[in-house]
Amino acid sequence: MAKRDYYEVLGIGRNANDEEIKKAYRKLALKYHPDKNPGDNESEEKFKESAEAYEVLRDPEKRSLYDHYGHEGLRGTGFQGFTGFEDIFSSFSDIFEDFFGFGTGGRKRETSRRGSDLRYDLQISFLEAAFGKEAEIEIERPEECQNCKGSGAKPGTSRLQCHVCGGRGQIIRSQGFFSISTTCYQCNGEGTIIKESCKECNGRGRIRETKKILVKIPRGVETGSRIRLKGEGERGIKGGPYGDLYIFIHVEPHPFFERDGDDVICQIPISFSQATLGSEIEVPILEGSKKLTIPAGTQTNETFRLKGEGFYHLHGSGRGDLLIQVVVKTPTSLTKRQEELLREFAEISGEEISKKQKNFFQKLKDFT
Ligand SMILES: [Zn+2]
Ligand SMILES: [Zn+2]
Repeated sequence: MAKRDYYEVLGIGRNANDEEIKKAYRKLALKYHPDKNPGDNESEEKFKESAEAYEVLRDPEKRSLYDHYGHEGLRGTGFQGFTGFEDIFSSFSDIFEDFFGFGTGGRKRETSRRGSDLRYDLQISFLEAAFGKEAEIEIERPEECQNCKGSGAKPGTSRLQCHVCGGRGQIIRSQGFFSISTTCYQCNGEGTIIKESCKECNGRGRIRETKKILVKIPRGVETGSRIRLKGEGERGIKGGPYGDLYIFIHVEPHPFFERDGDDVICQIPISFSQATLGSEIEVPILEGSKKLTIPAGTQTNETFRLKGEGFYHLHGSGRGDLLIQVVVKTPTSLTKRQEELLREFAEISGEEISKKQKNFFQKLKDFT
């Protein structure tokens, strides 16, 4: 099979600098890494191919030979490409150590590890978001089994070295001329196995327990706000620190308040006469209600700003505003007397009102 152009393999231009070359290779190496694609021959080929391209292009001397003479140019340098994965890992250990914390053949057996972070979704009301609250939540998380002190072995017995991997936690699997290091199937990478399991936790060393936690929700939170409770996540492995607990806030909608940043919008219906003559109406605010004066001649959709009646700013001091938007409602059913008065009103105003609705074309004609 003809060799592909090294620049093409890495997907970079011929003028790519060292940083771009490295970046392109890192991306491919991660994508085709044998641990991510076990048993996939095409990925193995791509993994080798990109390693070879990187090996040449990162070296100014080899790159120059390749630029001038192509693959032929490298013949005399003794460059052979790679024979196996271990070869690649050890040549570019700097790159692979960044990825997976291993690379130079044989991973270190896991010692201690931080516990996982946990997520809890908490639904709160609109007003709870406005004023904050203390909520007691219950989370289920694995705790150390008290019976075996977390070892998973029946009290009085202890864990034994794994006979499959000899305590390394890893086994080397050969596949053609590749040798791949994988997690030991017998001990799951622990390096030790249990002879007799603890009855309480079935050998897992951990038991799911429910814990109550008091969460203080600050005023001003919104949907998507996250509250981090440090150290309330899962217990670490082998003495590692606890993970964190993240409370994700979901705020329920309110029947008549709508939030816009830290401002709150509220639509209030008023009557035609209230709008025309002006009036004092009672409007809802977050804390209850308040009187609002509507001046005479108010138009529909006009907005009145009540300063400092909105949400408290989550960060910093102060509050947003409450915007009261009035909507003038047209009366839909009139008594005979009301109708008479309105007709009289229209007449005095010089408005033409007919019993029959003029059709659209007639109206257009009148207009032009
Ligand atoms: Zn146990
Ligand atoms: Zn093992």
